[in-house]
Amino acid sequence: MVECIRDSTFLTRENMSNEVNEAMEHSQDFEDIVFTNRYEALGIPLPDPATMCPGNCEGIGLVPTKLSDEEPWRSLWLEAEAKEPTDDGWHFVECPTCKGTGKRIEDG
Ligand SMILES: [Zn+2]
Repeated sequence: MVECIRDSTFLTRENMSNEVNEAMEHSQDFEDIVFTNRYEALGIPLPDPATMCPGNCEGIGLVPTKLSDEEPWRSLWLEAEAKEPTDDGWHFVECPTCKGTGKRIEDG
């Protein structure tokens, strides 16, 4: 009887860790979606490559960032987090290349 209880406790813990793994896989999926279907996800038309920002925003003026990203994204994430804490770990920060316009800035 005692062994049964121990077993069920063990199974519960294992299930919990499976859930954590699943959640992590999910967040990986989310990352892929953000980077491959960003325009569709945000309901905006594909930008013109001739005039779009050459930076990381891919023409939308915003870049999805998370705390584990490298600089400058990490600093921008922390800045956004200070203003408004994230619910899901992501912040869409203003693209530093185009200043949030999504357009290529002419050199002069
Ligand atoms: Zn940009």
